[in-house]
Amino acid sequence: MIYLDHNASTPVRPEAQAAMAACLAEHHANPSSLHRDGQRARAAIERAREQVASLLGAKSGEVVFVSGGTEGDHDAVIGAAWALEDRGRRVAISDIEHHAVHGAAQVLMRMGYAIERLPATREGFVDPKVVDSLPADTTLLSLMLANNETGVLQPVAEVATRAHARGMRVHCDAVQAAGKVPIDVRTLGTDYLVISAHKLGGPKGVGALVVSGDAPIEPLLRGSGHEHGLRGGTENLPGIVAMGVAAELAAGELGTERARLMALRQRFETGLSELARDVVIHGERAPRLPNTVNASFPGARSDRLLMALDARGVAASAGSACASGAVEPSPVLIAMGVAEDLAVCALRFSFGHTTSADEIERSLAIIGECVHAVRASTAGARA
Ligand code: PLP
Repeated sequence: MIYLDHNASTPVRPEAQAAMAACLAEHHANPSSLHRDGQRARAAIERAREQVASLLGAKSGEVVFVSGGTEGDHDAVIGAAWALEDRGRRVAISDIEHHAVHGAAQVLMRMGYAIERLPATREGFVDPKVVDSLPADTTLLSLMLANNETGVLQPVAEVATRAHARGMRVHCDAVQAAGKVPIDVRTLGTDYLVISAHKLGGPKGVGALVVSGDAPIEPLLRGSGHEHGLRGGTENLPGIVAMGVAAELAAGELGTERARLMALRQRFETGLSELARDVVIHGERAPRLPNTVNASFPGARSDRLLMALDARGVAASAGSACASGAVEPSPVLIAMGVAEDLAVCALRFSFGHTTSADEIERSLAIIGECVHAVRASTAGARA
């Protein structure tokens, strides 16, 4: 299989696997226990906290381990909204957020909060000026760092400056950006930032929330004071340790890997336009992640193309959802003003540390054949 779906999940780095296995074998004790075995387990968590903090330019005391991106987004959006409630019950999120953030906003809506939506431009990013017209009682603004479907990078630092000037706090879902582009929570100016291990070479089911400085937040999961009282529950020790190793590796390789992936992306995009002149690359002119290409081949529906690619050994993904035979266009592309008939033809190709130049060449040849075959069968069905 040529795996071009790293934004969905990227293979666990061997070093992270080894650390996880060693942790399972060696650290049986509860990290909250006061005996020596417990304290060794605690030390392993604190080491991982430093590794994660270092990837994000945070202090280790600001890192809260959670069960992944979805939980981190809920903890931040709902926990901050609760903590800021005496100033207002209004939260703003962008139209292109991941379901995890939309889901957290839905929870707040059920509780009577008002949700403002920030639109995206045709190139797929949020214009920072929209912050200036948000109602004065907006307490929290949520904007992701990189969109999971298009890879388009968002102007989080400028949005945060404008939001802070108006007294709002800022949450940033950096799940897709972490390990792919440099992140510094101080430069970004975020109050709450979330990452997930399985997008950067760690295992699934573990992530981190960075709560900067004295940013107000209430815990969702309450228990025995774990994670500075911000996330109850015995820690996922093997997952946390492996996440720390993956974060350290990603930080060390960021510069070289970013340049390598960018070169692969450029070659891939040139190749796509050679094999289908009418290909549309969404967010093409915007600053984007080095590893993500979202492309529509007009007339080739994404579900058919995905199946054809899978049969030929190429794994990619479609932003569109397929419900009972009908293809629903991706809300992100619709928010960018992409026409529905083009949006239902969009595929996302995302590269990672296992992707080679040879795989890019081989996948291009296969994509060309599959686009041709799907278009021909669609035209045949119409005739
Ligand atoms: N946020 C973004 C931007 C994502 O891409 C994802 C996963 O696809 C998540 C949040 C959810 O992360 P997790 O799978 O760790 O819950």
